[in-house]
Amino acid sequence: MRSTALQLIYIENKVRPETPKSALTMANTLTNRKKRAKDILDGLNFRYLPDEKDETLEALGYYRGFSCPFGHQIRDKKNHWCYHCVRRIQGNICGLDINYLHNIYQQDAREVLSLIEVGKPNECWPIRLEDDSYREYKTPKRINFPSYRTGQMDRRTDKVGIHKAIYTFTWGDVGSMRVSRRCRNKWCGNPLHMCSSWNRADVLKDFHYLDLELNPKKLLLMAKRHRHNLPIEDLIALSYRPTIASPQSVDISQKYNGE
Ligand SMILES: [Zn+2]
Ligand SMILES: [Zn+2]
Repeated sequence: MRSTALQLIYIENKVRPETPKSALTMANTLTNRKKRAKDILDGLNFRYLPDEKDETLEALGYYRGFSCPFGHQIRDKKNHWCYHCVRRIQGNICGLDINYLHNIYQQDAREVLSLIEVGKPNECWPIRLEDDSYREYKTPKRINFPSYRTGQMDRRTDKVGIHKAIYTFTWGDVGSMRVSRRCRNKWCGNPLHMCSSWNRADVLKDFHYLDLELNPKKLLLMAKRHRHNLPIEDLIALSYRPTIASPQSVDISQKYNGE
């Protein structure tokens, strides 16, 4: 009989009976999971930015481009995903406060929301397009929504899939990358049922924050933000401090960078 690596492991386990087998398996599973997470991130080519100087962006393949719904501007040169949104997604953070969206996106986001029947976090949220003949199509029709391309176009909005639009203003802006549904329901508009390659495997059960009502106080804060150039995240953190730390403090990407 040939001695294989597997047999050797078996023998080694036998001569050390004091090692609980379950603990070994658990350790291996953990290592594998960590390795898989690292492999995925490497494949997606996330580069951690030590600072946001122009030459650093250039050297690491980023550019300053069209604002995302959260007011970030640093994007990947190849796939145009927003650097800070990707860090938010990797931190498994999803939330929406209609008042705290960049003004370029506010009106369109409200129009998209008017097409969705908002339900509980664990339910599918039906997409109801005014014209039911859209149902003939396999998936909901593309809608007008700003995108990374808008900066280079004459028009204010681009044609974007409705799921991509919803994902963009709840999870973040993934540029030209795909957004799919975990629930496989083409007519579901629940952001928690959507994912991109940047999402983690563990499903988020609830939103970190959710406010779909226009609020004059918050809108005033947003107007002030413009004048003082405050990051939208700071306003979100201010309103939701009990439920959410600043997304910037969630740092998974850094752990995998430069290892
Ligand atoms: Zn962003
Ligand atoms: Zn669903």
